Amino acid sequence: MPDNMLDKFLRYVAIDTQSKEDSESYPSTTKQFDLLNLLLKELKDIGVPQANIDEHGYVMATIPSNVSKPIPTLGFIAHVDTSPEVSGANVKPQIIKEYKGGDIVLPGDSDIIIRESENPALKSAVGKMIVTSDGTTLLGADDKAGVAIIMTAVQQLISNKNIPHGEIKIGFTPDEEVGAVTKFFDIKKFGAQFAYTLDGDTTGELNKETFSADSCVITVHGRDIHPGSAKHIMVNSVRVISDIIARLPKQVAPETTEGYEPYIHPYVLEGGIGKSSIKILFRDFKTSGLADLKKIVEKIATEVQALYPKAKIEIEVKEQYRNMREGLEKDTRVIDYLFEATKRAGLNPEWTPIRGGTDGSRLTENGLPTPNIFTGGANYHSRTEWVNVWGMEKAVETVLNLIQIWVEKSK
Ligand SMILES: [Zn+2]
Repeated sequence: MPDNMLDKFLRYVAIDTQSKEDSESYPSTTKQFDLLNLLLKELKDIGVPQANIDEHGYVMATIPSNVSKPIPTLGFIAHVDTSPEVSGANVKPQIIKEYKGGDIVLPGDSDIIIRESENPALKSAVGKMIVTSDGTTLLGADDKAGVAIIMTAVQQLISNKNIPHGEIKIGFTPDEEVGAVTKFFDIKKFGAQFAYTLDGDTTGELNKETFSADSCVITVHGRDIHPGSAKHIMVNSVRVISDIIARLPKQVAPETTEGYEPYIHPYVLEGGIGKSSIKILFRDFKTSGLADLKKIVEKIATEVQALYPKAKIEIEVKEQYRNMREGLEKDTRVIDYLFEATKRAGLNPEWTPIRGGTDGSRLTENGLPTPNIFTGGANYHSRTEWVNVWGMEKAVETVLNLIQIWVEKSK
């Protein structure tokens, strides 16, 4: 019995697939295999002729072309993991069959409210079915909505032989939320010439630009000694690092910026007297701007170092991902056809810069152009996450349109 998209979505969010930062293993958590293996089985059950999983957890599948003319091979990709920031265990989805408008109070925690004023996308969800968590966990629409959309599109392609299509590749990946999705992703083996991630937000929103991103760790080494005999000897790294944090520019923060504005974002703080550290994100749409953000932090470290000469301050910066725009504009078909496909689904497509990254950032950089498609969800990585089921259906339509357009336009 073919089940519908909502059934699939609810089945996927019931499986805890939270990924973990700083894990020694890959995928970062073995529980991601629970969903990856299920997807492999479902692909086979649907009748996808080639589907497999490798030791890293990547599920890859191929639907052979059913037309004679050559058409570029397209890939569709979604990630199974959920954010390390909020628990994804025992998700209890709340289905609002017909959203009437207004704030949504979540039943598991009455302090958690999806506010109309903070969610402009709720306006277009009036009269539609939406799904939330019960407020005690995230929902996992990021990115299980994307997974359900792809599985539904695959099911339709397989069951309806009248849809002409080229060769289609499907990829389900672990560890996107910890920035490691492409760590072992073999683009050659995947075999697509162009790919699309289903990992966006509001219905109709498309993404061809992401931040360029570096991560930074500042470590302060102090000197610990019993406070009773600490005079002139103790170097309290907690004080030093607080001083650094206090000087970080508040107008260059995620809380105070939007659109194309860059930011510096301290997000993890650990410490004791002997040693403290902060993890910081540098984000800018211009890759060259990252160096300026680094300079700001270095200057602060130098100022603070002068105040605490006995402390040792170390700064380590690592590259994370790069804005995918340049890579996508080398062959604009990949974005032009997506725009057209979204219009054909009856939507007003809009290119929105992602204030974050996607799988596509790294894939594009590595030679597989991969823009991102909406999934109808919002408020990711939080307990107020919700998804518009109509938006998910529109995403399936967009995917199927896109496949058609590639057939139409190929000679
Ligand atoms: Zn995601």
